[in-house]
Amino acid sequence: MRTIYLCIGCAATYLPPESMTYPSHPTLTASPAHCGRPECAAAAREAVAMSGLTEAKLGEIARRAAGLDGDVRMPRIDRRAARGRRAAAAPGGGRGKLR
Ligand SMILES: [Zn+2]
Repeated sequence: MRTIYLCIGCAATYLPPESMTYPSHPTLTASPAHCGRPECAAAAREAVAMSGLTEAKLGEIARRAAGLDGDVRMPRIDRRAARGRRAAAAPGGGRGKLR
């Protein structure tokens, strides 16, 4: 299956060649983190500088967050709380005899 990429600059999805290169433009390579817009390339460079992560890693995180890669991460919902019962007390939240 082809990898669909998500631009961290503008949130566009894009599908570069699997080789990440363009035969008609030998000096041009596709990025795993940003689309072809110059402002998105600049945003990605800034994100790499700020985070210390590689473009590949930032692209992977963006794809995962958008559900394009791996399992979509959903918050766990406690169904019992939805039925009108009072939520369980927080640890240490109860009043003791010594207080
Ligand atoms: Zn973009």
